[in-house]
Amino acid sequence: MYCLILMRYRGPDPREPFTPRWNLNGEPAKGRTFGLPLCGQSPHYSRALTDLVQECLYEQPGHRPDLRELKTRVQNGWRAAFKADATLDAWDDFLPQPPPPPPPPPKLKPQRCKGIRRNGKACKKKLAADEYCGQHQGQRP
Ligand SMILES: [Zn+2]
Repeated sequence: MYCLILMRYRGPDPREPFTPRWNLNGEPAKGRTFGLPLCGQSPHYSRALTDLVQECLYEQPGHRPDLRELKTRVQNGWRAAFKADATLDAWDDFLPQPPPPPPPPPKLKPQRCKGIRRNGKACKKKLAADEYCGQHQGQRP
């Protein structure tokens, strides 16, 4: 999310912690964090979200929001965005196209038995898959 906010490939530099001098989601910073200051860096993401990402980058794990808090705050942000008539991102653009339907099975000609009857005439009994009916199995070449 840090990279998306800044539209850059590289993540935060772990060698350069800093202490934000601004409030993160209404509270003073709890300690040092990493990366570039995200405050006001994105025209696409809310200040609440960029602050939340900055909080997730706190040096001390205990200062970071836990999973439950993260979920609650993301849900609250989601609801607030919908109340403000936010438009949905076209996530479908990132999903692969569904596979095309499989081709229909080829139409099979009804097969006829290739066996020869005792009277010398062709059997021609209709068959589903085999070339010889049960009576003429022994005539296979
Ligand atoms: Zn037959």
